[in-house]
Amino acid sequence: SVRVGVLALQGDVREHLRVLTDLGADAVLVRRPEELAQVDGLVLPGGESTVIDRLSRAFGLRDPLRAAIADGLPALGTCAGLILLADRILDGAPGQETFGGLDVTVRRNAFGSQAESFETRLQVPSLDPPEVRATFIRAPVVEEIGPSARALARLEDGRTVAVAQGSLLGLSFHPEVSGETRFHRLLVQRARERG
Ligand code: GLN
Repeated sequence: SVRVGVLALQGDVREHLRVLTDLGADAVLVRRPEELAQVDGLVLPGGESTVIDRLSRAFGLRDPLRAAIADGLPALGTCAGLILLADRILDGAPGQETFGGLDVTVRRNAFGSQAESFETRLQVPSLDPPEVRATFIRAPVVEEIGPSARALARLEDGRTVAVAQGSLLGLSFHPEVSGETRFHRLLVQRARERG
């Protein structure tokens, strides 16, 4: 079966492991470069992007991760994971960096303290049926999309909350919280094609 990793430095790692396992993937934790080298796909979970960024450097994972993504490793980033996949960030912490891969500019904590967390129904035209129950938790939004990336979903106010580029998917929200498995399914499919 196909081996898909979950970046396990910080964040909601277990929920993603469960979804991937339920989809029939051999789901493994990735904390070290040797573990990264053995997967055909990777989830970058939600959590705190500044902490994941810092720990990735401490664990010697940052450069291997950048290289793997640039080399076409299929990846799904949710929330903090979307921030880490973005080429550019706004409202980052001092010194905060990303792995990059998605030609987008993401704003951290874009909903402010009034709307720390909410659930909404989202239309994702590339899915059938298109409706997705999306949970947002101190979520980022995509403020600008470069020519290499494309929007997959927008909120009713027009803000982009899902993007794709090649084998990369980035979501502002947490599909693993609301039982939405189709994004993980896409990741597993791409990992299978690569493996
Ligand atoms: N606000 C967090 C960050 O900046 C993301 C929140 C989340 O992943 N649920 O990393």
